[in-house]
Amino acid sequence: MVFHCSSGTSGGKQKMFPRNNKYLENIKFIFYYRSLVISKHIDGLEHGKGMVFNFCTSENTTPSGLPSSAASTSFFKSDYFKNRPSYWHWSYTSPDEVILCSDTKQTLYCHLLCGLVQRDDVVKVGAAFVTILVRAINLLENSWKEICTNIRFGHLSEWITDISCRDSVSKILGEPNPELADLIENECNNKSWEGIVPRLWPKAKFIECIATGQMAQHIPTLEFYSNKLPSISSSYVSSETMFGINMSPLCKPENVSYTFLPNLSYFEFLLVDAGDKTEIVDLVDVKLGCYYEPLVTNHSGLHRYKMGDILLVTGFYNNAPQFRFVRRGNLTLSIHLEITTDEDLLNAVTDAKMVLESSNLMLMDFTSYADISTTPGHYVLYWELKAKYRNDIVEIDKNVLVECCYVVEESLNNSYRVYRSKGGLIGALEIRLVQQGTFDALMEFFITQGASSTQYKTPICIKSTEALVILEENVHACFFTDKSLSLNFSS
Ligand code: AMP
Repeated sequence: MVFHCSSGTSGGKQKMFPRNNKYLENIKFIFYYRSLVISKHIDGLEHGKGMVFNFCTSENTTPSGLPSSAASTSFFKSDYFKNRPSYWHWSYTSPDEVILCSDTKQTLYCHLLCGLVQRDDVVKVGAAFVTILVRAINLLENSWKEICTNIRFGHLSEWITDISCRDSVSKILGEPNPELADLIENECNNKSWEGIVPRLWPKAKFIECIATGQMAQHIPTLEFYSNKLPSISSSYVSSETMFGINMSPLCKPENVSYTFLPNLSYFEFLLVDAGDKTEIVDLVDVKLGCYYEPLVTNHSGLHRYKMGDILLVTGFYNNAPQFRFVRRGNLTLSIHLEITTDEDLLNAVTDAKMVLESSNLMLMDFTSYADISTTPGHYVLYWELKAKYRNDIVEIDKNVLVECCYVVEESLNNSYRVYRSKGGLIGALEIRLVQQGTFDALMEFFITQGASSTQYKTPICIKSTEALVILEENVHACFFTDKSLSLNFSS
């Protein structure tokens, strides 16, 4: 018996699940199935490779000595992955040794290097979740000069100390290649990194990474770097089970729905907002336009396990229901009696980003916290900003940030605005700017706590005191709304 650990970054709490080979078979099935769907919509992939930021995290043992690891790690270390067929979707620019490396920085660097050396073969750029992809682009921004030196002299940096990684990547790096180094340097030296992905990988036809739900905050950043190359959120997956795939891979990110595959687990659905009644229905009985929480029963021993995700039925593919991921059910901010979900926050921050646009700043990552140490308590948003153009200093315009606070508050739900405006039950919302790299430090912290780096998603609200300390240590400016909210209520 082996166990899977969930990342703990979407639901706020890390969990362990028993797992058997059926789970690994399901991953293999879903990888294969989604590639068939993608190749139905995009031509010319057969002879290309993927530069995909897959990697492993270190394995642990339970107190009684049983092995436990992240779901993705157990798959990459299994024979299901090792003995995969030679089909384009399984063909990567990086050798398996890079995927099996559990040092996040070494593996990301080597993925980038191998992907650049074979840039003309790359038809897809991907990662399990968009968070990893954005992190890889950040690493490229900080290390392209070093990567170019490696390519120019045909010598891998000495700090790549993982022996199997080093040997296999050195083979791919091959002889000195000054022409390629010059070409990459030329692109990276450009003042703007807008569209850097298609500039460096001109044959890339799409990006594959999950960017729905709480990860949607990264879509504008991804679009900036990818010049709107199609971005495909191809599946809905978790440590508990795989759920389904996106049958319309080229649809807009906000329209993505997942078609559930009933062979992966036995799915039932708990109707959300059913009052005192508990109404559980089978997959065939879900109704269009209703919100449900999936319950999972499967071969790994889960029985009517409540996922905690809230999904909306958006349609049917033939007769199979399709679901849009709406939010995590248990992630809420609350100061008084209002309930602000992760979906509410994401929408509000998306509105505020329009204000930021005018000042050439990009919001790289954010999280939130309900601060009740003040009277009255208030919402705090931690924002990491970056200048759109390379080498530009992040110039903060107080008016812009104060306006962002106001726009976020105006976009929040009616109950928030009533408690905030009348009776002063909620204080003015605050945006605290953090230094660049803070969200990387936050991720490192969660990884040291056992979260899997491949499955990492920035938590949309912070519950851990230690994580809060990391954010607080990096705050360099604070802004508050300075005017009253309008009380024009949306219905
Ligand atoms: P983990 O088991 O740690 O990888 O986390 C699984 C959780 O990630 C799910 O329960 C969802 O909350 C989230 N998740 C997985 N796939 C998607 C998706 N396609 N869209 C939105 N959220 C997702």
